[in-house]
Amino acid sequence: MTKFPLNDAANWVEAYGSPLYVYDAKTIRGQYFRMKHAFDQDIDVDIHYACKALNNLNILKLMRSLGAGLDAVSLGEIELGLRAGFRPDQILFTPNGVGIHEIKEAVGIGVQINIDNLETLEEFANEFGNTVPVCVRINPHIMAGGNAKISVGHIDSKFGISIHQVRHLHRIVNNMGLHVHGLHMHTGSDILDIDAFMRGASLLMDLAHDFKELTYIDFGSGFKVGYRPGEATTDIESFGARMSERFKEFCLEYGRDLKLIFEPGKFLVSEAGAFIAKVNSTKTTPSTVFAQVNSGFNHFPRPMMYDAYHHIENLSNPEGEQRLYTIVGYVCETDTFGYDRKLGEVRNGDLLAFHNAGAYCSSMASQYNSRVRPAEILIENNTPYLIRERENIEDLVRGTVDHGLYNELPVSEATNEEITVPSQG
Ligand SMILES: *Cc1c(COP(=O)(O)O)cnc(C)c1O
Repeated sequence: MTKFPLNDAANWVEAYGSPLYVYDAKTIRGQYFRMKHAFDQDIDVDIHYACKALNNLNILKLMRSLGAGLDAVSLGEIELGLRAGFRPDQILFTPNGVGIHEIKEAVGIGVQINIDNLETLEEFANEFGNTVPVCVRINPHIMAGGNAKISVGHIDSKFGISIHQVRHLHRIVNNMGLHVHGLHMHTGSDILDIDAFMRGASLLMDLAHDFKELTYIDFGSGFKVGYRPGEATTDIESFGARMSERFKEFCLEYGRDLKLIFEPGKFLVSEAGAFIAKVNSTKTTPSTVFAQVNSGFNHFPRPMMYDAYHHIENLSNPEGEQRLYTIVGYVCETDTFGYDRKLGEVRNGDLLAFHNAGAYCSSMASQYNSRVRPAEILIENNTPYLIRERENIEDLVRGTVDHGLYNELPVSEATNEEITVPSQG
């Protein structure tokens, strides 16, 4: 659930329009230090913010100011990180399904490289041999968290080098002279079961003994935040305590203290965001009452993509009579934000707040239906700052090349070759 007050929403919308993404710096700081403090203070813990959750430059700069590193999944995210002031060595490049060209470019920039494919690792070794250290992503096949759409550790997953391929991995590392400095895993989102996570983490630590040059182990992310009122979340404090104990044990056996890395996205920003949309109309049908807002899956795709629940409230009429609504958007597709939601009676022009809009909302937004992307504001010291302008019509045509191809006479007939009628039988 969004963790900051939305009492000023009407003022924000008056100043910056709607729909609007709103983020709260204080909540982000709170989550960052809560995680940082969850681990024993004598362990060297690095938190790499997963850029893809929310990639506004101001958010990246805020993360940097807190001492975070960055987890980047594309050259674009690396570039954003550099522009936000991260040093290349603070950025871990964790791509999936990219070719060696992209990895070579990242090596050139000087970021840390994480490889999740044996074939790619061989190409990397041929190119860089022992001159560039590398991290490898292992898939421990722990089915942790959420549903199959957001879990990436299961046996059918495309992510990581399977734990069953470790002998092959060693063959490549030993024969091609690679320096493996890091081991990595990331099993997916919404992990509630600390035992399951610890099983995966323990498998990784067991493997780590056979890699003698490690400087860090990166256990990825997947920390669950609350989307529903009162919903259970990852108990980060007890997770931190258990992980600290296990990791210290490991370091003793390993013979050296390694760095412990996590790369949360959601945990840091999900509850630090809200999305404010305005009600265009209500519509009563034989089966429900729709509340139709000035947005859709173009701005807020998680409910439709992942069947994700996002809490919705009517900011303009919280004390109104509670009625049942299906909240939908204005996109010409089924774009239902929520079914059977109890809201204070909805009137045209009311502002609805969608909770947990910090992670995977604006960063997944599109211009579908030729609707522009909304503005983003950041609340810092009780002051709203515009951190991304609302797009305009020019943004819809930017990059389009006009050759004047069809400026001339109307074409009244197609040539015979252009009309192809499928032959029968
Ligand atoms: C997406 C991603 C994360 C962040 O996951 P959250 O569920 O947002 O915390 C971390 N690491 C990698 C490699 C990712 O792809």
